[in-house]
Amino acid sequence: MRVKQISLLFIFLSVFIFSCKEKVAVEPLEEIESENDGVITYSEYAGEEPTTPEETEYYKPKVPVVEPGKNGAPPSDAIILFDGISFDGWMHTQDSTAVKWHLNEDGSMTVADKTGNIRTKQEFGDVQLHIEWKSPLPVQRDGQNRGNSGVFLNGMYEVQVLDNNDNDTYVNGQVGSIYKQGPPLAMASVPTGEWNVYDIIYHAPEFNEEGGKVKSATVTVLHNGVLIQDHTEIKGTTPYIGWPKNPPHGKGPLMLQDHGDDSRVSYRNIWVREL
Ligand code: MG
Repeated sequence: MRVKQISLLFIFLSVFIFSCKEKVAVEPLEEIESENDGVITYSEYAGEEPTTPEETEYYKPKVPVVEPGKNGAPPSDAIILFDGISFDGWMHTQDSTAVKWHLNEDGSMTVADKTGNIRTKQEFGDVQLHIEWKSPLPVQRDGQNRGNSGVFLNGMYEVQVLDNNDNDTYVNGQVGSIYKQGPPLAMASVPTGEWNVYDIIYHAPEFNEEGGKVKSATVTVLHNGVLIQDHTEIKGTTPYIGWPKNPPHGKGPLMLQDHGDDSRVSYRNIWVREL
């Protein structure tokens, strides 16, 4: 009986010590103001100064492994939205009908004029989005009527697509702008007729139970590898006329614009990673 009690005590102590050892993850950071004005420190770092390297290293939780895509291919955990073969994952926004845009032999799609915007069937919240687009040749018209399309995050916030090469327009509506809200930090388009790349990191807005916005959406955009939107606050919807609006919403589709003026903009290689 005594031996059994000692054994049980030993097992209990082993489990206790093991569970203590597992608690290696660092506590979440909490910003605290120091007594010196303007200096931010962190509660986690407020204790006694470590004297060994191991005290500031941790191993859990493990970071997920993602295999990067080779030669422009999507990474291993990406959701492929358009693979160049079919419009299976898409429909027209207005009436949910099958997509009437052109499916090209080179694995791209092109806006079919006045057929309307298209959207993904799947809906998303926070995403990393990769999308490639091309302005058409020969060049037609000027300003907002030259190769105008757009990538709508959450189905309602437009990152402008436009042929801005030698083509002035209002800067908060130029290529890479958050339409009618924020001009891009740079104009980074390739020559008309070549493929542009947008890599977009989007965080959706948050709303309270009454439908009031408590946190704005933010967007970061790389245009051909150049940072053009740097964690930009999205103030609301991006209408042609009027102020941004903030209707409450949850997840939404990715939407592509038919500007309705024979824009002939093409897209290819579209994928997202949910964040
Ligand atoms: Mg547009």
